[in-house]
Amino acid sequence: MPEEKEEERKIPSELPLIPLRRGTVIFPNILAPLEIGRPRSYKAIEEAVNKDKLVVLVAQKDPDEEDPGPEDLYDIGVVGEIVRMLPLPNNTVRALIGGVKRVKIEEFLQTDPYFLVRIKELEDIVDASPEELEASRRLVISLFEQLWRMSRNISPVAETIPPELVGEIKTITDPSRVADLIAYYLGPPYSITLEDKQSLLATLSVKERLEKLATILRKELVVQEIEGKIKSKVEKEIGESQREFILRERLKALQEELGMKEEGVSEYEEYKKKIEAAGMPEEVKEKAMKELDRLSKMPSIAPEAAVIRTWLDWLVELPWNKRTEDNLDIEYARKVLDEDHYGLKKVKERVLEFLAVRKLKEKTKGPILAFIGPPGVGKTSIGRSIARAMGRKFVRISLGGVRDEAEIRGHRRTYVGALPGRIIQGIRTAGTKNPVFMLDEIDKIGIDFRGDPSSALLEALDPEQNYAFSDHYLEVPFDLSEVMFICTGNVLDTVPPALQDRMEVIEFPGYTEEEKLNIAKYFLVPKQRNEHGLREDMLEITDDALMRIIREYTREAGVRNLEREIANICRKVAVKVAEGKTEKTIVDAEAIPDYLGVPRYRYGVAEKEDEIGVATALVWTPVGGDTTSVEVAVLKGKGELILTGRLGEVMKESAKAALSYIRSRAKQLGIDERFQEKTDIHIHVPEGSIPKDGPSAGITIACALASALSGIPVRKDVAMTGEITLRGKVLPVGGVKEKVLAAHRAGIKTVILPKENQKDLTEISPKVLEELNFKFVEHMDEVLEIALAREKAPALASRGDEE
Ligand code: ADP
Repeated sequence: MPEEKEEERKIPSELPLIPLRRGTVIFPNILAPLEIGRPRSYKAIEEAVNKDKLVVLVAQKDPDEEDPGPEDLYDIGVVGEIVRMLPLPNNTVRALIGGVKRVKIEEFLQTDPYFLVRIKELEDIVDASPEELEASRRLVISLFEQLWRMSRNISPVAETIPPELVGEIKTITDPSRVADLIAYYLGPPYSITLEDKQSLLATLSVKERLEKLATILRKELVVQEIEGKIKSKVEKEIGESQREFILRERLKALQEELGMKEEGVSEYEEYKKKIEAAGMPEEVKEKAMKELDRLSKMPSIAPEAAVIRTWLDWLVELPWNKRTEDNLDIEYARKVLDEDHYGLKKVKERVLEFLAVRKLKEKTKGPILAFIGPPGVGKTSIGRSIARAMGRKFVRISLGGVRDEAEIRGHRRTYVGALPGRIIQGIRTAGTKNPVFMLDEIDKIGIDFRGDPSSALLEALDPEQNYAFSDHYLEVPFDLSEVMFICTGNVLDTVPPALQDRMEVIEFPGYTEEEKLNIAKYFLVPKQRNEHGLREDMLEITDDALMRIIREYTREAGVRNLEREIANICRKVAVKVAEGKTEKTIVDAEAIPDYLGVPRYRYGVAEKEDEIGVATALVWTPVGGDTTSVEVAVLKGKGELILTGRLGEVMKESAKAALSYIRSRAKQLGIDERFQEKTDIHIHVPEGSIPKDGPSAGITIACALASALSGIPVRKDVAMTGEITLRGKVLPVGGVKEKVLAAHRAGIKTVILPKENQKDLTEISPKVLEELNFKFVEHMDEVLEIALAREKAPALASRGDEE
């Protein structure tokens, strides 16, 4: 409808009126289809058709009022032109009416047979600059577009808005028309109200109308956004559950069709039988039956069915009521332990005592046995023997690297791929409820943990609580009270204190060379020979050969590598036998490199010459004792102390203490008292990249320092351990037994120990004690007296000065 034409159009001041129902508000320049059925309206349209095709269209205040009077109508409406008419049955017509102009109803001239009103034409009020109006026009168009796009994605709402409209609106330059067009199309189901629309119609100021419209659109955008979120959520939920429902129904039908229902029944029966047979406690059985019921009601391929099945499998396979008969014959146990192990006298005695107590009080809630010692000293092996002696099953799990309580106690069933924790897994492996259960590397858990594995572990091990151990996966308690737990570890310090409290610790010391030789001769060689299918008349390894392996191919507290090297020899001999060699192979010391390659370690004193600034320390590591050299270099500088070799804080502190002692003794040692003013001191502890800590290298550092500063060499065949105070007192240290064995292995002649450690030597074999020369000291002065080779000193000049 061209704009000029409207201007020209002459509108009579008296016209028939049609009330608009259902919240419809017609605006100028809108082409609206209307269904006209009410008698008054029908008459009005007849009248209009017969005259100039114009009617007044006014909204009813109450959209649902069937027979409104003048007071029920708004006073502002639109004059519309009837463009087309389509008669329908029952005195109804469908008319297409184009809005022409806003009008105000001045007076009702008649109400019957149709409303006749006197009207006044209303003009738009243009009360803003064209730029301002243009800006507002663009704003409402863009808001409308946004709204349309949004609602289009949410629902068929937008169907009330023809898609072309959005494009078309943009081409309309008259802001007033734009506002009217949008206002008209914002019908239900948008939340815009009749009042809103009517108010837009009644607003003659174009600027104000656009502003009102913008506000309405913004509000509507927010509403739609929220609705969209809710709707998509609801739709998703409904969608999924419906989908599942439909799939299940279909599945049921298919199963019936294929006769698979039968199988479902037999699965139920099968599990039922297994549950009956498993000997579960009553409450566990109840729970299992409940889950089985649930399972039988599910389509067999439902994901949850698989979860329940796995759970039931675990449950029925656990040894709820299976146990082995204990043999508590102490004599027999002693025999078994001796049969399997050389030496370890003290360990065996402790184990037998432990068993004896158990025998006396069968139901005792004794402490948890813990075997602590370096690798390869027979901890696991003794555990196996205990199981053998008692006639129990043996299982072993490693706790190394366990950081998560779930590894001990399992994951809840709701997790994908959830399983019981390691304890329950171990029990299933054992197949009895009273195995000997070994927990290796107890010292390597809980270093940085989530959910504290140690407390879960305690719950499993502690006889006070473990009769009803709860695994997250099982959800039902399992009785662990008949299990004999043995923990093993290299060191005690890092075992969580709560566990330490409950443990009865049995220490496994390292072996001496002689013990190793015997273990090899009587246990390892026969064992390996056997494992490689060799008979005694096929292979012999001489004692000298074994000793050479011990000294030059291994460096360990236990016998693990020794056993590995023996296995190497056996393998090579086995190949020869397989190739047809019939005569006995005798491996002697000389032949060893042929089998094992060049020696890996030099036996005896590492450095042949006594050296200045280098002293030998005895150190303790979790894998046994060892020797290491401490080196000190004196360099030109400004009194700095440099420490290298991955030294821990405590070791650094003890280096400083050693330095202070040397300063205080400078005069006696013939050292320039102001040596630090001109020199830097560099202390280095080489040998691998193992972090080193602890105060026990104190006297060795002091000794190397004294040597470096005084120029007097340190005797090479002397090794030492001891803490030093600022005043040079020597304090006792730990791990003496292991350290002494290490010194013996390394071919050291003289060992300097703190006086207070003398008592620790009682546990060392007499042979070792015999072969070493022990010096017990209380003061650093004594250490220097023993360790420094004064007779070999060059001039007692102060090195500090020289440099
Ligand atoms: P750990 O558990 O302390 O690391 P193992 O028990 O695995 O050590 O021992 C390593 C190997 O050495 C095993 O084959 C074991 O039988 C053997 N072994 C260790 N000590 C002895 C011993 N005293 N007598 C006989 N064999 C031993």
